[in-house]
Amino acid sequence: MAKVSKSDAEWRKLLTPEQYEVTRQKDTERPFSGKYYNWKEKGGYRCAACGNKLFSSEAKYDSGSGWPSFYAPHSGESVNTAPDTSHNMVRTEVRCRRCDAHLGHVFEDGPPPTGQRYCINSIALQFASEDGEEAG
Ligand code: FE
Repeated sequence: MAKVSKSDAEWRKLLTPEQYEVTRQKDTERPFSGKYYNWKEKGGYRCAACGNKLFSSEAKYDSGSGWPSFYAPHSGESVNTAPDTSHNMVRTEVRCRRCDAHLGHVFEDGPPPTGQRYCINSIALQFASEDGEEAG
């Protein structure tokens, strides 16, 4: 998979200010404020910045956190993780594997079969219902 690499100025032009703040500056949308935390349609979720397939509705569940939550990414090409010690917390950041957009964090308190909770900002995602079958 080819990486997508753009300058800060290019990302600013391409993204909305809110998307830019989250995906390039690692901001976090307020809980229960995003488009997808309670979204239940079948389909796929792509990276809002580059279109990479990130998650499927089949792995989405209601964590009660106020952010869209998934127990697994779509594939091994979907995301990368990195240690994040900002805000006096030790967390694992989740990034788009193709464009390095900040997506959210992953925690070890998710449901079976993985026990993982990918806690993702809605604004970093773009839902597409036609991605449903192949994204599963
Ligand atoms: Fe991306």
